[in-house]
Amino acid sequence: MGKLIIGSHVSYTKDEGMLGSVKETLSYGANTFMFYTGAPQNTARLPIDKEKTIEAKKLMQENDIDINDVIVHAPYIVNLANDKDEDKWNFAVNFLMAELKRTESLGVNKVVLHPGSHVGLGVDVAINNIAKGLNIILKDEEGPSILLETMAGKGTEVGKTFEEIKAIIDKVDNQKRIKVCLDTCHINDAGYDVSNFDKVLDEFDKVIGLERLACIHINDSKNQVGAHKDRHENFGFGTLGFDTLIKVIYHEKLKEVPKILETPYISALENGKDRTYPPYKFEIAMIREKKINKNLYNDIRKFYK
Ligand code: FE
Ligand code: FE
Ligand code: ZN
Repeated sequence: MGKLIIGSHVSYTKDEGMLGSVKETLSYGANTFMFYTGAPQNTARLPIDKEKTIEAKKLMQENDIDINDVIVHAPYIVNLANDKDEDKWNFAVNFLMAELKRTESLGVNKVVLHPGSHVGLGVDVAINNIAKGLNIILKDEEGPSILLETMAGKGTEVGKTFEEIKAIIDKVDNQKRIKVCLDTCHINDAGYDVSNFDKVLDEFDKVIGLERLACIHINDSKNQVGAHKDRHENFGFGTLGFDTLIKVIYHEKLKEVPKILETPYISALENGKDRTYPPYKFEIAMIREKKINKNLYNDIRKFYK
């Protein structure tokens, strides 16, 4: 019987590298984590500190964190879907190839990627562009896998249905390195009723195949089903609600799949300054106890101030 694999988005800093990410993970009582190898909104990346990586791996081993459960998230500004500007598209492809190398040098084998936005080209053209890019990026037989993330369908986002994700996968030559990340907030906003999760999972299995599911982003949503908005809410405090999300986390068929929280930081006013605090330690505690903490926001503020 596998244990619960739970973690959150954590930071990756210039000075500490992945070692800082592991320390932050442990402070939340988590046993996996996800990070960007630099700023999520840009593609500036620094070389990886080998010493810090060795220290990080040692700390992971001591604390029973399996590196196979760890996730890197590609920056969300790279857009393989749109090739109108050829230089920009080539840059995105080259950047992602380098990102996979960086990920590999950390010993991590999963990179979550937003499929992209078609910006007027239409879904079919976009799907071809994404697959064309992936076939360059994944041309080596071995290496980290790309996990296409299910999207909310905000603007012209591609990957808002399981069928769109499957259409991309079908065009990828290297079937071994292409997987999927399911985001509970995104599929809600895209129109899937997560309160009937068995039905959603069945559909995922029929359209894509459960064996492709390699990560779940556990987020509540601020919006109604089908709102196409993509606004995350804290665990149990949104439209999906506590019981539905607990059902996802403890689902029989998903035991081996790492679950990652990307819920929003809690804001607080301290000495006249706006601060924000991570909710993950307290959300993970609720998840382990399977009991909602109605005082979540206050408990977080009290703990961190
Ligand atoms: Fe994402
Ligand atoms: Fe996500
Ligand atoms: Zn999102």
